[in-house]
Amino acid sequence: MLFLTRKRRCLDNKANVYKENPMHRVGLVIIGGDAAGMSAASAARRVNPELEVILLEKGEYISYAACSLPYFISGELRSVEDLLALKPHVAEKGREIKVFTGSEARAIDLERRRVIAIDRRTGQEVHYAFDGLVIATGASPIVPQLAGVDLKGIFTIRRIEDGIEVRRFIDQWGSKRRMKAVVVGGGHIGLEMCESLSKRGLKVTLIEKTDRLLGTMDVEIGDKVEEVLQRHGIEVLKEKTVSGFKGVSGRVSSGDVEADMVILGMGVKPNSDLAKDAGIELGVASAIKVNEHLGTSAEGVYAAGDCAEAIHVVTGKKVYIPLGTTANRQGGIAGENATGRKTVFKGVLGTAMTKVFELEVARTGLTGSEATREGFDFIKVEVRGSSRSKAYPQGKPIHVLYIVEPRTGRLLGAEMAGEEWVALRIDTLASCLFNGMDVFDIGAMDLGYAPPFATVWDPILIAANEAAKRISRA
Ligand SMILES: Cc1cc2nc3c(=O)[nH]c(=O)nc-3n(C[C@H](O)[C@H](O)[C@H](O)COP(=O)(O)OP(=O)(O)OC[C@H]3O[C@@H](n4cnc5c(N)ncnc54)[C@H](O)[C@@H]3O)c2cc1C
Repeated sequence: MLFLTRKRRCLDNKANVYKENPMHRVGLVIIGGDAAGMSAASAARRVNPELEVILLEKGEYISYAACSLPYFISGELRSVEDLLALKPHVAEKGREIKVFTGSEARAIDLERRRVIAIDRRTGQEVHYAFDGLVIATGASPIVPQLAGVDLKGIFTIRRIEDGIEVRRFIDQWGSKRRMKAVVVGGGHIGLEMCESLSKRGLKVTLIEKTDRLLGTMDVEIGDKVEEVLQRHGIEVLKEKTVSGFKGVSGRVSSGDVEADMVILGMGVKPNSDLAKDAGIELGVASAIKVNEHLGTSAEGVYAAGDCAEAIHVVTGKKVYIPLGTTANRQGGIAGENATGRKTVFKGVLGTAMTKVFELEVARTGLTGSEATREGFDFIKVEVRGSSRSKAYPQGKPIHVLYIVEPRTGRLLGAEMAGEEWVALRIDTLASCLFNGMDVFDIGAMDLGYAPPFATVWDPILIAANEAAKRISRA
């Protein structure tokens, strides 16, 4: 499917559109204006400068850094401006992308190839006829249907507006008393919010329903996270399920834990209803089903980011791992392909990193639990290295876990925790995984060394050599 729509023609059409009926035919329509949507718009524009590109965003902001919201709430980022990568007028002038904020797509009519949207400011219905469409509607936080969940003081963290509200709430009440917060969910967002709220001076309790924190990583790393939280005065309640919320004299209580505010960090679900209602197929975890070109089951319609599934590089299976990195990469490729290219999206490894106070944790590929679930035969190799040479002051321990297939020596996944240079070290291992390397080759890599940055045998090499030894001995 190729788009021949020229900017000239669309401009000519515009007069009819707005005068007679609210119909506007464009080359490419994109629904959703954050990471995936804006990457798609920019890539399409780069590939085909003649194509008219329209981006519909239901909120007021585009291209914002949701990942930085915990640091905005903590005050490390000062203003909303710091969260914005691109403003609508810059996208319009600099990139010639027509941006409609406050414009919510309500339906996709595949037969007549148009998106039916509502202008949220005027309530007017506007139809955008398209040659190509990219759905980049992202994901929404999971909000449990529990009693009292709508009470004032209960928040989710996803959009800029959420960050503004939480910050305002703390500014308003935090000056009057030492506030207490409950964070529900010990995943990445829950943990980052524990740090953020604690930095604002709140007393924080973390409630996690399973027996460990950071369930996306193995227990060895989760235990380190728990240690650091406790060191910073965060109360951790595991194997505890929240059954509802009560509002008592302006305070919220979650079961028997009292608080002034509650943050729900219980995961996200893909915003795929728009696609589903249009008859587009859904896949893993109800995310939009896509092929290797990010095409959906409807011709000329692509999906990218947190609303879409992806292929896992290690298992070759479809997965739903919503991350900003993936949203940007998928968005770019969906945008290119919507102009007629056939670029392949090469998949994901779930490479992720986070900081919990001074502890950096990172992962790529499969964890031990995931390898078990996928039926791999594997060994887990655990080593402790250092971030700097022994001879150089202030080196910090680095804890490394490798998941290795013993029959082939292939690395299946890696995790790390430590206080210095862990997060970026994981990227070396992501490169190894992306290229299907085994521990013999990883152990032979020529990595850099100087005392302030590494040990002469980097922890990456030490772990690979230890794995190689164990395999050879077996
Ligand atoms: C607190 C936090 C920390 C995070 N940290 C990290 C991190 O460190 N690293 C990382 O890789 N990822 C991180 N993420 C995840 C990352 O932010 C998301 O993966 C990324 O934002 C997904 O981008 P997206 O464009 O697919 O979806 P979204 O960011 O959800 O954007 C979708 C957009 O579509 C709009 N939209 C939805 N429906 C419609 C409609 N019908 N009509 C018009 N517009 C619509 C929405 O308003 C939204 O702006 C974090 C997320 C949060 C919340």
